[in-house]
Amino acid sequence: MVNFAHRPILFMYLQVSLLLNFLPQAVLSQSNNLFTDIEAFNSKQIERFNRLINAETTIALRTVSINSSLLDNSDSVILNLFPSATFTVQRSEIDWRGPNKFIWHGEAHDKPSSIMFSVCENSITGTFIIGRDLFRVIPLGDALHAVVHLDQSKRKVCTTESQVGVAASKQIELTPELGSVSLANTSSSAQPDVIKVLMVYTPQARSQAGSEQNILNEIQLAEAAANQSYDLDDTDPTNDIPLELDVVYATEINYTETSEREAFTSKCEELGTCVITNKLKALKQLQDPDDGIMDDVHDLRGIHAADVVVLVTSNILDVSGEAFEIGASTEDAFCIIEWDKLADPGGWSLPHEVGHLQGLRHENDLN
Ligand SMILES: [Zn+2]
Repeated sequence: MVNFAHRPILFMYLQVSLLLNFLPQAVLSQSNNLFTDIEAFNSKQIERFNRLINAETTIALRTVSINSSLLDNSDSVILNLFPSATFTVQRSEIDWRGPNKFIWHGEAHDKPSSIMFSVCENSITGTFIIGRDLFRVIPLGDALHAVVHLDQSKRKVCTTESQVGVAASKQIELTPELGSVSLANTSSSAQPDVIKVLMVYTPQARSQAGSEQNILNEIQLAEAAANQSYDLDDTDPTNDIPLELDVVYATEINYTETSEREAFTSKCEELGTCVITNKLKALKQLQDPDDGIMDDVHDLRGIHAADVVVLVTSNILDVSGEAFEIGASTEDAFCIIEWDKLADPGGWSLPHEVGHLQGLRHENDLN
């Protein structure tokens, strides 16, 4: 939130500026505003707007157009999220991924912050932590975007541990085998280990995101946000988590979403007794290479040498994600993440679910 104590100083500054320069300074300042209010104008946009406004995590929402030329042309922009949350933001880095395709990093002048936009042609998406506040910019279709203020306390992260048979998996030796990656050998390496990720999204997820470009852009942002979450210390890289997440391929997969769960029996030989877990049917369908459902995922995984497969969905979970296994083998390294939670500020659903596959739990005392 804006520190109102600074307002008198701001007004004084504006008054002095106006006296010295007449109008141009004020016009310049306003022209650096990133967002301009506009309203939803078609049924698809209104549908997406209603879904966001009714979300439990939404504190406030406005619909805007974005002055995108500021992102690649200005060192400093006014991030006018809401009247009580407007920040001058300094660009710190642009990471170009292709023509008209980049990740934009910036920091607010007077707050600890992480501000990240992903731009892919006409699609713009963003995830921000500013002080203790969390915000998203989410495309609603065409040139319309939602600016959302999120309530972190209402966020439901993950159902992995409540479904994957925690008690049984405590008895076994966890040996993460995500390709060449394991947590055990990461700390001694100067170069970060790379986790290669294949992302497949459902037609429903693409439709809810508004377009193929929008969902691919959301995936691009999620990858960048995940890698920033591993980067813990700007001043000392040796304190970082030596992991890098690389989305090697992303594509739509032919699948009709279902939120059904079913009992799944596993680890019988390993434990001498069977573990019954209540998995998402979609996770099992994703993981099973021979059930006739999403089987081409396994060919794609081989072609792109991906360690982990993420199914990106729109309406399977009422939380952000679920992983197939805690401490997954190559055969089990699958997870599901809802498309609009991929790059949640502070939630980092992508490194969270990948972390489960690597053997990480929510509660330290279970390790
Ligand atoms: Zn979790």
